[in-house]
Amino acid sequence: RERGEILTTITVIPGDGIGPEVTDQALRTLDALDLGLDIDMLDHVNAGTYLETGEALTDADFERVRTSDSTLLGAVGDPRVAGTDYARDVLLRLRFDLDLYVNYRPAKLFHDRLSPLRDETRRAVDCVIVRENTEGLYAGMGGVLRKQTPFEMTMDAEINTHHGVSRIVDFAFSIARRSVCMVDKSNAVKFGGQLWQRYWREAAGRHPRLETSHLYVDAAVMKLVEDPTRFDVIVANNSYGDILSDLMAELAGGLGTATSANINGDTGFGLFEPVHGTAPDIAGKGIANPIGAILSAALLIERLGHTAAAAAVRESVNSAIAQRRVTPDLGGELGTVDAGEAIRAGLR
Ligand code: ATP
Ligand code: MG
Repeated sequence: RERGEILTTITVIPGDGIGPEVTDQALRTLDALDLGLDIDMLDHVNAGTYLETGEALTDADFERVRTSDSTLLGAVGDPRVAGTDYARDVLLRLRFDLDLYVNYRPAKLFHDRLSPLRDETRRAVDCVIVRENTEGLYAGMGGVLRKQTPFEMTMDAEINTHHGVSRIVDFAFSIARRSVCMVDKSNAVKFGGQLWQRYWREAAGRHPRLETSHLYVDAAVMKLVEDPTRFDVIVANNSYGDILSDLMAELAGGLGTATSANINGDTGFGLFEPVHGTAPDIAGKGIANPIGAILSAALLIERLGHTAAAAAVRESVNSAIAQRRVTPDLGGELGTVDAGEAIRAGLR
């Protein structure tokens, strides 16, 4: 490497359960692409370390992540630390301290056979859910009165700020190819709804070349099942985005291929991970499907500007699935390593 050349540094947190198995396949795939990435492994960030030291992600670890260009994560969580703050400590610290305000969930169906929809003309799902990731109903505001009495009263407040709403809507527009659909429930949840509506109309006015639409969330779920092919980018608050993300992941073939990213739209930093968890039931068996992790890596390099390489990975995943050179969960007979190898073979 030339002296003085600016390197792209990727921090990698393989994590727990099947996390390290699938992350290894993602890294080998990146390696095969030969993009000259500098990989910084944080393989000590896991439940074992937490059990030994009581600390999940040290300040030094956090600094390595913060100063890198993006992070690839496997999965964190472990039955031995169930009920502790371990997974939250890792994920929420990264999300809030790096202000990863976008939850980006692409939903792309790679093969007809993976679709749960009967109507084959409406299976070609290829859209992105942009979910607000830092406020809304999940901000933890509220309280309880007269707890554990028959008069108990609880309140969970939904936080919507102009700052939060504007940046997520702007991000949605910035990535749209054809259209943006905003989903809310402003007919029933009025005050926040009005803020979303007002900013939404303003932003739509600034993007006359994109098709824009609005749906109440109840209508949105019907339309998404009826004809998901009509959608490109869908933007929603934290709770509706959460629900729509899982709906779309199923319509696009389920956990096996689903990926997600938590992004700071201003710095471009992203934390990329498969949607599946640590899958303790199959960890160590060598049968975990590596496609979610491999596609997370593809999304990561795409966001860093390697669009052709990302497209090549997706193309290769596509043909591996078509040829059933995949793990049992997708109807194949390969183990994790061979399934990863099938995808890399398609790249050569
Ligand atoms: P966590 O608490 O970390 O989310 P979990 O027990 O909820 O773990 P998930 O990872 O969410 O497990 O998986 C749910 C189911 O899907 C499990 O039966 C798991 O074996 C299966 N599964 C998840 N990921 C994969 C994968 N990559 N390949 C094959 N099967 C998977
Ligand atoms: Mg889970």
